[in-house]
Amino acid sequence: MFKVVFAVTLFLFSCPLQAYQPAVVSAHKKASQIGIEILQKGGNAADSAVAMAFALGVVEPYNSGLGGGGFFLYYNAQTKQFYFLDYREAAPQAVGLIKKGNKRFQEGILSVAVPGFLKGMEEIHKKHGQLSWEELVNPSVQLAEEGIPLRGELKESIADRAPFLKSDPALTHVFLKPHEEGKNTIFQSDLALTLKNIAEKKGDDFYSGPLAKKIAAFSKKEGGILSLSDLQSYHVFWRKPLQFTHGPYEVTSSPIPSSGGAGLSLLFRKAIINHVTDYPPYSPEAYQMLLEGFKDYFDYREAALGDSTYNVVAHTTHLSVMDAEGNMAAMTNTLNSAFGSGIMVPGTGIILNDEMADFSTHPGSPNSLVGGRRPLSSMAPTIVFKNKKPFLIIGTPGGLTIPQNIFQVLYYSWQWKASLDRAILQPKFYYSPYDKKVVAEEKFSPRVLQSLSPEGGVEIKDTIGNVQALVIKNEKLTVPLSDQRGGGKGMTFSPVSCPKPPLQSSQ
Ligand code: GLU
Repeated sequence: MFKVVFAVTLFLFSCPLQAYQPAVVSAHKKASQIGIEILQKGGNAADSAVAMAFALGVVEPYNSGLGGGGFFLYYNAQTKQFYFLDYREAAPQAVGLIKKGNKRFQEGILSVAVPGFLKGMEEIHKKHGQLSWEELVNPSVQLAEEGIPLRGELKESIADRAPFLKSDPALTHVFLKPHEEGKNTIFQSDLALTLKNIAEKKGDDFYSGPLAKKIAAFSKKEGGILSLSDLQSYHVFWRKPLQFTHGPYEVTSSPIPSSGGAGLSLLFRKAIINHVTDYPPYSPEAYQMLLEGFKDYFDYREAALGDSTYNVVAHTTHLSVMDAEGNMAAMTNTLNSAFGSGIMVPGTGIILNDEMADFSTHPGSPNSLVGGRRPLSSMAPTIVFKNKKPFLIIGTPGGLTIPQNIFQVLYYSWQWKASLDRAILQPKFYYSPYDKKVVAEEKFSPRVLQSLSPEGGVEIKDTIGNVQALVIKNEKLTVPLSDQRGGGKGMTFSPVSCPKPPLQSSQ
């Protein structure tokens, strides 16, 4: 008898219950490919997310990477718990020595906050990962060595930021020269070496070893304040995520230091208070009421959380993962602006963020600049359950527009009954609190545009956001939805089901 129990137990451990169809989605197909391969070789959603995050740092060097930070939301199917990791960049301690409200924090070397990305990845792997660390980093070493095709978004981002990149010799060498010379591949050999070191030593060198010294010495030479002790003392935090319900939906999203989750929750409440459902879906009146909610959101944000700078760019990246056991990952990473501060640490391939620009310049704001503090974000990696079952993993870039964008996707689907893919496609708009204007995609009808801005002061923008979502239709079907506004890709596979347990006769 003992033997039978032993055999069955062993079998169950080596062949996990395959409760869901595994899937990944991200803003770049090479990253998604790496993420799905990690799942195929037995990694879980946390492993896949970490491997994809490293890969996105290579293939979208303008959106995220080692020099940046982000947020990770995880649902562990076994513990049935949510976990939220904050690896947001933090202000260097020496900010106190520099005049408050100094404009120079908005750009250049003083806009660089202590990078949290690598500590974040290490912590996620340590707490939730299953595969070895090397297995998660090595695919990105290879990507950086092999080179990435100079086309599409990469080419456009380099062209857009050319004047900015020109002032940095290392960035010019890696990205601008090949672009100007009409080459068709970008090689990141320094980054490949840094990633190789990270595959071996995790964050040791980056946060306290030779790499940390190099980063700090470079910052000092350039007139910056990011020091070795800032790197050594940088910490990530597991935080309690923000949760709220709307009908049968339970939404879990970002807590402080992001306004993302609070924003989503508030926008839903405002839609109820403002009786949006009294008006026909997609009608000018309904949109007008949604807009009222958007305005109130910024009043609340400023009063309770502090304002920040006018940041509506979509230079951030989101990825979503579902694994066979039902673990779910939503991760949003950023450098803030495209190519961050526009500064690469020579010889490392590391592009430094400009996250200090997300602090408020108003003295006394809850988001004012203090050493060690994390600037207010809008990023909102989000997981939704419907009737107590996994339903949706979603996120987008877009700075201040993130909560408004995700809210529109959810609202169009839940309240106005659009399918989620239609809801993502549906034209989006946002309210910009600084110039008090509405920015909208051009596909809105003239009547709606008119109603959003009676004085006709609405600005038209090509695209807003780049949503990467996974819809869990049922246990056997997970549908990736990668926003057509970007060049992302979703991938799934059908797991080979486990063979029946071997029958063993007891003796
Ligand atoms: N730094 C911004 C934030 O944390 C993100 C920028 C973006 O989404 O492009 O909210």
